[in-house]
Amino acid sequence: MITNNTALLTVTDLHKSFAAREVLKGLDFTVHKGEVIAILGPSGCGKSTLLRCLNGLETIQSGSIKLDGVELNTPTTSWINVRQKIGMVFQSYDLFPNMNVIVNILLGPLKVQKRTKLEAMQEADELLTRVGLIDRKTAYPRELSGGQKQRIAIVRALCMNPEIMLFDEVTASLDPEMVREVLEVIQALAKQGMTMILVTHELNFARRVANRIIFMDQGKIVEMADPETFFTNPQTDRAKQFLTVFDF
Ligand code: ADP
Ligand code: MG
Repeated sequence: MITNNTALLTVTDLHKSFAAREVLKGLDFTVHKGEVIAILGPSGCGKSTLLRCLNGLETIQSGSIKLDGVELNTPTTSWINVRQKIGMVFQSYDLFPNMNVIVNILLGPLKVQKRTKLEAMQEADELLTRVGLIDRKTAYPRELSGGQKQRIAIVRALCMNPEIMLFDEVTASLDPEMVREVLEVIQALAKQGMTMILVTHELNFARRVANRIIFMDQGKIVEMADPETFFTNPQTDRAKQFLTVFDF
């Protein structure tokens, strides 16, 4: 975990509603370069919506999202450009089923970033090697296990050279034996200093890898603390109750 005090992402008083229903009720937090933040909280509390707001997949009603000091909540923000800096991996494998692994990975670097094929291919090869899947380069998604698909989805996001990665329960639909291989990739990224926000129900993993825990409930940040404090000495009844449900 390599952190310094440079604010990379600053969220201020973020409000998000779906029709009349407010699901994010004024969130404030800062992510520093190299920091790993785990967002925990019960189902429906707004974790996915928050991540989707951060990369423009949802519009927000009010508040500020700054990346490198630049305001993103403006009518003229180019989210296509922003998404190159904010990579995201979802719970469901979102690889294109009709394209093989390397074509999936190179789509963004070649089509969006207009990089040269040789250079992008070299980077893809390096990343595939790192996640242990260089030999599956020409496989199609249907030929891969869930854990392999998630590792490819991570490589695809990394190949855009993002400044921050958002992970939304990326192990939630995996069989237990595949959870580990994906968490190991994320842990290696943390060691290399990648800035990350992880939404996860893997509490042991969050405790081990995160620099900070954000605990949400009903659209609000209820606790924000270092992992040891959060797990051994939660401050609110809501967090205590949440933690008792898990056997970790
Ligand atoms: P979590 O990821 O913490 O389980 P979500 O962010 O998915 O929670 O959802 C937060 C709340 O917003 C839930 O009550 C959910 O039903 C609601 N919600 C999420 N997406 C939509 C949508 N597209 N339209 C309406 N309501 C939504
Ligand atoms: Mg969710």
